[in-house]
Amino acid sequence: MIKRLFAAALLTTVVGSTLYAQQDFSKVEVKAENLAPGVSVLFGAGGNIGVSHGEDGTVLIDDQYAPLTPKIQAAVAGLGASPVKFLVNTHWHGDHSGGNENFGKAGAVIMAHDNVRVRMASDQNTPFGEVKASPKVALPVITYAEGLKLHLNGEEVRVISVPPAHTDGDSIVHWTKSNVIHMGDLFFHKMSFPFVDRSSGGDVRGVIAAADKVLAMADDNTKIIPGHGAVASKADLVAYRDMLVAIVGKVEAAVKAGKSLEEVKAMKPADGFGVNPNGFIKPDMFVEMVYDSLKV
Ligand SMILES: [Zn+2]
Repeated sequence: MIKRLFAAALLTTVVGSTLYAQQDFSKVEVKAENLAPGVSVLFGAGGNIGVSHGEDGTVLIDDQYAPLTPKIQAAVAGLGASPVKFLVNTHWHGDHSGGNENFGKAGAVIMAHDNVRVRMASDQNTPFGEVKASPKVALPVITYAEGLKLHLNGEEVRVISVPPAHTDGDSIVHWTKSNVIHMGDLFFHKMSFPFVDRSSGGDVRGVIAAADKVLAMADDNTKIIPGHGAVASKADLVAYRDMLVAIVGKVEAAVKAGKSLEEVKAMKPADGFGVNPNGFIKPDMFVEMVYDSLKV
């Protein structure tokens, strides 16, 4: 019995580490794309990183995985920016907050939604395995329920919380003058179906509401940083929102008609939207998350 428990625990650890540490980080290149004066996005492995830099200091939005911190710091320096002073986590997942311990030790002030701190401070179970609690230095020291504003580098940067969507602690970051919005994992841009983390309190209807919220803030020149995938336009986000509405509509009608999950999956409601079917979240997985969001 103990042996079996040990084997199960080991399996969980392996599955858990697959989500966050399968890659060979030595081969990852961190590349920057400038979006506006003093505002850039960094691509590496894990969630896309937003950077604001200028006379008042460097702000990072998310920080990918711990082994990538030196490459991220080098990319920040390559922008002509000073070392990271403030760090915002769009949510708690390790591909967005894995560098917190390193940046916290280096003196960055970490900010996030209240629930990011709660979840990072305790062991979490996700569909991809267990994630252990983070050390104190990795935890956000400034937390909020609704959001906050940063007044620096020549503009107001709004950090805005949304009701449960990808998780129960998602934030959007809006550079109001530069016209750039970071959506974290509220937006997976074509490279995968979205991940609705039901085990972290996520709900697909909240993802649609978050997309609508950002669309109301955006115009045709807005640059939208998704959690994963290339920088997007308002039109790209409209297409994403419309896809979610269409899939949720089909699944909702089927749930109301009393169809089982297997019957709903057989309808293939996520097919035909031009999203990579071999991404991190496969079509059937997404349908399961939608079904699970709607059935209660
Ligand atoms: Zn995530």
